[in-house]
Order: sequence, then structure tokens, then C-alpha cells
Amino acid sequence: MVPSELGTNLNAVRCPECGKANDGPGYLLPSDGAASTWRCHSCHFTCGKSLVAAMLEKIEQRIARAKHKEDIFTLLSELEDNHLHRDHILLFTLKEKLVFDCYQVKS
Ligand SMILES: [Zn+2]
Repeated sequence: MVPSELGTNLNAVRCPECGKANDGPGYLLPSDGAASTWRCHSCHFTCGKSLVAAMLEKIEQRIARAKHKEDIFTLLSELEDNHLHRDHILLFTLKEKLVFDCYQVKS
């Protein structure tokens, strides 16, 4: 069974070997409960959790800096195409910021 977190893919990140938008649907997920190794379900590429953590930290910083609708749309598209599964929890955070930004403009 693919460890897709019960099909949610909330932490799935695109595989650097086969997961780019135009290359294929490879995603890295923790390969076991300890999550020390992340594995691609498609090409079986593996990497340590520190590499994934460093990438996610950079993404979180970029999300924190995105303040306006246009910036958020651009970042959302880039992250979905190149770095994260479309259901990744950080994309929900970004979409929430987008909704909040739109709401502020209207009120
Ligand atoms: Zn892969």
C-alpha cells in the first residue's frame, strides 16, 4: 500500500527525480512510521527527512512573505507545479491566505 496518509497526501512533496509537472506524478512520502526516510512511490527515489524539512522551511518562509492576491496566485501555481502535491497542507494555508486577501478587498 502506498503510504499516502490514507489518501490525503497532506505531506506529499514532488519527487526531484520524476515529480515535476511535465515529467510525471512522483511524490515523496515518509517510508515508515519514523519518517526518517522519504520515498517516491513511482521511481523509488529516497532522501532523508532533513532534506524535505529544509525545503518545506523555505516554502513556509515564501508563503509568509506572500501578502497580495497576485503574489499568492503565482506562488500557488509554482508550488503545485514544482514542489508539492496539490493537496499538501501548506497549499491549504496559502489558499486560506488568498480567501482572506479577497475578503479584505471586498470589505
Ligand atoms: Zn520519483
